[in-house]
Amino acid sequence: LMETIPPSENCSVKVALHIRPLIADERIHGCKECVSVIPRLPQVQIGTHSFTFDHVYGNGGSPSSAMFEQCVAPLVDGLFQGYNATVLAYGQTGSGKTYTMGTGRKDGCQTGLIPRVMDALFNKIETLKHQTEFHLHVSFMEILKEEVRDLLDSVSESKSVAANGYAGKIAVPGKPQIQIREASNGVITLAGSTEVAVSTLKEMAACLEQGSLSRATGSTNMNNQSSRSHAIFTITLEQMRKLHSVSPVNDTPDEDMGEEYFCAKLHLVDLAGSERAKRTGADGLRLKEGIHINKGLLALGNVISALGDEKKRKEGMHVPYRDSKLTRLLQDSLGGNSKTLMIACISPADINAEETLNTLKYANRAR
Ligand code: ADP
Ligand code: MG
Repeated sequence: LMETIPPSENCSVKVALHIRPLIADERIHGCKECVSVIPRLPQVQIGTHSFTFDHVYGNGGSPSSAMFEQCVAPLVDGLFQGYNATVLAYGQTGSGKTYTMGTGRKDGCQTGLIPRVMDALFNKIETLKHQTEFHLHVSFMEILKEEVRDLLDSVSESKSVAANGYAGKIAVPGKPQIQIREASNGVITLAGSTEVAVSTLKEMAACLEQGSLSRATGSTNMNNQSSRSHAIFTITLEQMRKLHSVSPVNDTPDEDMGEEYFCAKLHLVDLAGSERAKRTGADGLRLKEGIHINKGLLALGNVISALGDEKKRKEGMHVPYRDSKLTRLLQDSLGGNSKTLMIACISPADINAEETLNTLKYANRAR
């Protein structure tokens, strides 16, 4: 049976736009909506600009279930076939990244994408576990100022609070920094990181909660840390399947044909605020605002646009993974056989129009 594959199906990077509703604060300040969605098209308009993406979600309702079904569920299915995947939430601070991903402590936790991923994962495992053995691991990292921090290392966290009053800001003495390493087969590993083995949905959800809490605790001590850092929740799925040849007579497994092994990971990334992705830092104004250019966001834009450019890819163009810790960490799950979903998050409010336009342009480079 042949399936017709839509044209963009063979492209490894997809872009979905998520427009959150106006929030109370914006309403109080009398903000008007400045982004309009073209009916029945994945297209938006802001001022004289219009942009087309793979999907557009917004305009009321809770779009995350549709977004999950259309964009993320296929990536979860891909994990079971051994394909790595990355989901990235991009956008200015306050645009809804944490809400969309579900890496927050409260509102996103029930409706965000990560809890939905967990549900789908365990449901699928339930249907397959009679024939396959599964092992799941979770890690939760934060990249702040080009340093990788382990959000699941609760021991080092509490020690570091006691020692210097800044949660996780300074590494615990004697504890080695987390190192990003590339094996000869291209697999990226994080030396020194906590990989929690989980076997139930509850255990996995506890990891998400613990890490989110750890990230939030840091932010009370450091001015708005979450807008400056990338949070990366990673699920690793290992599968062992016994291969049998089936007896034609009674349909029961016959002789043992060895084992099939798959390992794949899914990264779910809540990126730093995109107001930090400015290309030049030449105007003194930005320094006054205390905004620092984020290396990871710049490198990610370059990597994704290189991957999206099929012509350049065929010519064997260099993909600049090594330019930041973020792209280095995600290297084996961006491009190649892996699938990438970039979710561009925007506020519809007119006061955010300039940043919204920047986000739309950045996301547009990914196509
Ligand atoms: P970011 O992580 O990009 O800084 P947040 O996820 O914290 O942004 O969202 C900013 C505010 O907008 C929060 O108060 C959040 O509850 C609200 N918000 C975001 N997305 C939605 C949505 N889809 N529906 C309702 N409120 C939302
Ligand atoms: Mg956030």
